Amino acid sequence: MEKTLTDWQQLASRVQLPTQAFIDGRYVNALSGQTFATVNPATGQVLAQVAACDVEDAELAVQSARRAFNKGVWAKAAPIKRKKVLIKFAELIEQHLEELALLETLDVGKPISDSCAVDVRGAARCIAWYGEAIDKRHDELLPTESGSLAMVTREPVGVVAAIVPWNFPLLMTAWKIAPALAAGNSVILKPSEKSPLTALRIAELALQAGIPEGVLNVLSGYGHTVGKALALHMDVDCAAFTGSTRTGRQILQYSGQSNLKRVWLECGGKSPNIIFADCPDLDKAASASAFAIFYNQGEMCSAGSRLLVEASIKDELLEKIQQIGKDMFPRNPLDPSAKMGAIVDDVQLKTVLGYIDAGKAAGAQIYMGGQQVLTETGGYFVEPTIFDGVQQSMKIAQEEIFGPVLSVLTFENAEEAISIANDTIYGLAAGLWTRDINKAHNTARAIRAGTVWVNCYDEGDLTSPFGGYKQSGNGRDKSIHALEKYEELKTTWIKLG
Ligand code: NAD
Repeated sequence: MEKTLTDWQQLASRVQLPTQAFIDGRYVNALSGQTFATVNPATGQVLAQVAACDVEDAELAVQSARRAFNKGVWAKAAPIKRKKVLIKFAELIEQHLEELALLETLDVGKPISDSCAVDVRGAARCIAWYGEAIDKRHDELLPTESGSLAMVTREPVGVVAAIVPWNFPLLMTAWKIAPALAAGNSVILKPSEKSPLTALRIAELALQAGIPEGVLNVLSGYGHTVGKALALHMDVDCAAFTGSTRTGRQILQYSGQSNLKRVWLECGGKSPNIIFADCPDLDKAASASAFAIFYNQGEMCSAGSRLLVEASIKDELLEKIQQIGKDMFPRNPLDPSAKMGAIVDDVQLKTVLGYIDAGKAAGAQIYMGGQQVLTETGGYFVEPTIFDGVQQSMKIAQEEIFGPVLSVLTFENAEEAISIANDTIYGLAAGLWTRDINKAHNTARAIRAGTVWVNCYDEGDLTSPFGGYKQSGNGRDKSIHALEKYEELKTTWIKLG
């Protein structure tokens, strides 16, 4: 039977919160003994004090990861062995679904039903997928001019620092650690200081599944301390980052200042969702457009935050989106019927409200919402918000808000739509809706973005690469291509006698 709000509240009162970092197969405090508070955004109350790791903890974790890598128990294991362990790891995550979903919801305020279905299940599926993939990869033997044997073999890169954000803490963790571990690397995971709980919890499950000590370490703490220490470390071979474009730029600089470690960046977005007047189904487009911006409180890198609508259908479309937006009004995230929960913390709340003020000041009109709500809870809730009359030059059309705030712009023809769509520093994703196959194809090709959805939004599965053009980043998460980020190619020439 489905759990009720009361069931989840009771579970929440009993759930154990992991508070220590995980280094070399053991839970430990930060060497300094320092901690930081992680807060429940639905109540504003402190949930737990968590180890605040710093440079010296990063040092221990890197040494542990390097030792484990050099030992080779994981790095040189037959792929089929790594496969079995990763599948077991995924099963353990599934077995702890409710506990992990609860930790995620308490930590970041997202609806519990999403934490179960999307975050925890998605993470388990991702880990199993890379487990399944890894023993299907082949090395290559090349047909050389001289007749010598030239073999191209794949080897793990070494020690990978995975630095992840707070909007999908466990899922983004899985997108990084699953391919990195499958490829045989040792990993140091640095969750966001806003959302450390699930990352700390799964470290133990990984060990239980058979991932050897030192192969997966988890360092809780701030970005400018422990995150920076990892990205600057001379013995970290790769920094795989998901987060803001601003931090991504810093990570690249740290690499340049240290050992030129490989840097993979999955950064922000300001994705256009283009609705042409010949949209095949306006109800579907409205529903997808609402979810594209209000799902996960708008805290989504791929959020369809700019709605570009052909002027003749704007009124009808906005009316429909508003109806769906009303139905998504935020609730207690532990309520299984909640479709929106709380904004992650008071800092992000102020950021979102600041953008709403900026939109008003620039002359855009509030079509719906625009307020902080449920203030009596002590939590950080913002209602679904739509700005009409937005100009492309406005801040709310240019900058990533990372909240439930939709900017609506109009266009008259495909050329204009493409020009507005591409007028951004970002290039993560885009949607477009039309019956016309030629217009669909030509527009999709003209948009500079890593993913384009035609007559849908936010579809995705593990087979498809995900990542950005321009300042949305480089490289791709998910799919077989993500494995390549964590592999070196070695060519071995063998002269035959
Ligand atoms: P953020 O850049 O503030 O933080 C991301 C991570 O980097 C955190 O773990 C943080 O502690 C760490 N960090 C911060 N400063 C650092 C430094 N100087 N050195 C090393 N590490 C540092 O981003 P956020 O607010 O946590 O996440 C939101 C951002 O993530 C949005 O811009 C969103 O678009 C992006 N995002 C992108 C994708 C994608 O796939 N492209 C997916 C999810 C989120």
